[in-house]
Amino acid sequence: CGIIGIVGTRSVAGRLVDGLRRMEYRGYDSSGICTLHDGALVRRRAEGRLANLVAVLEQDPAPGNVGIAHTRWATHGAPTAANAHPHATGEVAIVHNGIIENYKELRSEMAAAGRVFESETDSEVVAHLISAEVEGGADPVEAVRNVLPRLRGAFALAIAFRAHPDMLIGARLGSPLVLGYGPEGEEAEMYLGSDALALAPLTQRIAYLEEGDWVVVRRDSAEVFDAQGNPVTREIRASGASA
Ligand code: GLU
Repeated sequence: CGIIGIVGTRSVAGRLVDGLRRMEYRGYDSSGICTLHDGALVRRRAEGRLANLVAVLEQDPAPGNVGIAHTRWATHGAPTAANAHPHATGEVAIVHNGIIENYKELRSEMAAAGRVFESETDSEVVAHLISAEVEGGADPVEAVRNVLPRLRGAFALAIAFRAHPDMLIGARLGSPLVLGYGPEGEEAEMYLGSDALALAPLTQRIAYLEEGDWVVVRRDSAEVFDAQGNPVTREIRASGASA
């Protein structure tokens, strides 16, 4: 339902939760975040209100300067913590808005290859597909390039890679995703959001991704590709959303 991602220079957990709070108006049944820290994916999730996620984070903080977060409005699978996003393997964590229409076939294929699923969602299969590529030796860009054409339905995705703690990849088809340009120089940061409103306290400089676009986001750069994999530029504009 709501997505936010930060590739930053200082702690992201609190700011990710703030971004989720700004998307509460959309409705949601659970929430979660995943940060990159000390060579690991640090994932925290909770059923119900954001206050429950905040309580989990007080108990078990999620340190790190790069991360993704999600509020879920369940379409496939009950509204439980186990079905809350991010979904993750040892290598990859993803948050997803929308519906992967062909998840059953993809899930059977992944299960037949020995991969173990932990949720009832349509979304988890995306984490496994990308992870299988990465474990097979693909770099993050190749992995995403190979997997996106296999997904049917609607998605906005933000993807984190355990072994690449300096970047996130975003993708959209049928669900909105916005790129946010933060400060430059020493404190350079970049953001992803399903909503310009979620990014308003972080930046007013945004670019709307177009249908089929995907983007490699680093602290100080964003490389956007179209559905054919060609590099494209998307206009940076003032968001107009109030902080
Ligand atoms: N279809 C996914 C799920 O049920 C994502 C729902 C959403 O957009 O929040 O987990």
